[in-house]
Amino acid sequence: MDDPNLHKNKIFQKRLSERQKLVKQLLSHGHIKSDIVKHAMEKVPREEFLPLEQKPYAYSDRPLPIGKGQTISAPHMVAIICESLSLKEGMKVLEIGTGFGYNAAVVAEVIGETGKLYSIERVESLHNIAKETLIRTGYSNVNLVLGDGTLGIPEAAPFDRIYLTAAAPYVPETLKNQLNAGGKILAPVGEIDLYQELILMEKISDNEFKTFNLGGVAFVPLIGEHGW
Ligand code: SAM
Repeated sequence: MDDPNLHKNKIFQKRLSERQKLVKQLLSHGHIKSDIVKHAMEKVPREEFLPLEQKPYAYSDRPLPIGKGQTISAPHMVAIICESLSLKEGMKVLEIGTGFGYNAAVVAEVIGETGKLYSIERVESLHNIAKETLIRTGYSNVNLVLGDGTLGIPEAAPFDRIYLTAAAPYVPETLKNQLNAGGKILAPVGEIDLYQELILMEKISDNEFKTFNLGGVAFVPLIGEHGW
């Protein structure tokens, strides 16, 4: 019979090489643009943020089910989120929709130890799994909150960046108000369970925003007071 440690090591090496291959693909497709995002995606093991039966598909570039009708975002979407927000080391960031915590781990890696990441999830079982996984993979400094992300975290605001990983009918004012001047918010906005546009808003002053449409996407719905 195979030595179990040898078997584990073989799987680890296989996933590492699949991860490197995927990062190369994301670079060649232009989804990854910066070294900082490249390094983060090379480092975070996506398989750790998946249910057992989905682990073999960790490095296929697509969303995967994580239970409770929710998904882990596709790696190219995680890269697009990081790059379009121009994340930098030391930033204070708010994520709405933790899921199993993969996107949070990549962002935590990008903003580094001097950065601060908060992430809100409304489904308790997902929040608990994300907490356990982020601690196990070395990202215990991510501040995880259970609740309605459409309300943001007023007591931790203002943030340099806010991003939503669930589709909203509009960009919630509550969240726009929790951005720093010069800050950016990214949200999929559009039809529930259908098709949305990825909207990036840059806060110029208290009530002035520049808006950019980054193109079509498909996300699970944002459920909450300022969602669906
Ligand atoms: N960020 C995740 C990742 O790493 O792939 C993606 C998670 S999934 C696409 C979107 C998540 O948003 C789901 O886990 C869902 O439960 C959560 N969600 C939906 N509405 C929410 C709300 N109002 N507040 C917090 N989380 C919400």
